[in-house]
Amino acid sequence: MAMRLLITGIGDAFTSRHFGSSAVLDAPEGYVLIDCPDLINRALREAKEASGWPVEVRAIDDIILTHLHGDHCNGLEAFGFLRRIFGQNDPAQRPRIHTTAPVAERLWERLAPAMDAPFTDAENSTLEDYYDVRIIEPGTPASIAGLTVESRFTKHPVPTIGLRVSNGEVTLGWSGDTAYDPRHIEWLSDADLIVHEVNISNVHTPISSLNALPDELRARIRLNHIVDDFDPACTDMRVLAEGEVVEVVKR
Ligand SMILES: [Zn+2]
Repeated sequence: MAMRLLITGIGDAFTSRHFGSSAVLDAPEGYVLIDCPDLINRALREAKEASGWPVEVRAIDDIILTHLHGDHCNGLEAFGFLRRIFGQNDPAQRPRIHTTAPVAERLWERLAPAMDAPFTDAENSTLEDYYDVRIIEPGTPASIAGLTVESRFTKHPVPTIGLRVSNGEVTLGWSGDTAYDPRHIEWLSDADLIVHEVNISNVHTPISSLNALPDELRARIRLNHIVDDFDPACTDMRVLAEGEVVEVVKR
């Protein structure tokens, strides 16, 4: 059985053309959002219009959060407020955030100044009023909406994970933000299809490093996290498009 994902963003932290790199997985038990960038409502609406998938904040109960850079998490404020309001403050309606312990530990530090005011009573709000946070442990497979998700810490200035997501038949590799790291690419190379970041600066992966990978591996790599003026002619690996549905099939 193929696995499908809808690309919602392919941009980087400084993009003025795209949304932050993100996607929605069509999992057996619902939609799973990988990262939650700025303007999440607009990113989902545009992807919905392009694909016909009925994706919107109220239809997504699981978010995998790779790290706390804003271009990957700034949408969590709007997402959390919207869900809490439309969920009528019912704890059972809370979306789940799946992330690593060091990210979970500082998540509220990031969100609290905007979200900790009392909501319906005199008590200050807490992270748990908005989200059900589930810890994923790199090296230990997690079950998320019927998918098996493995994670691995990348080379990035803050704790960040890459992902291997399997439905039992096919596997998607998702690099997450990372400097070029042959061991990370080796770990991802089991996957049938790999979405790899590319960008400038020493905390990201330069296209020259990916261009030097073996033909067979490059053929399975699609690119995201591009700079706005990325030249697609500089590589034979295809840059993903926002609104595109990617089908992961057995290689
Ligand atoms: Zn980052």
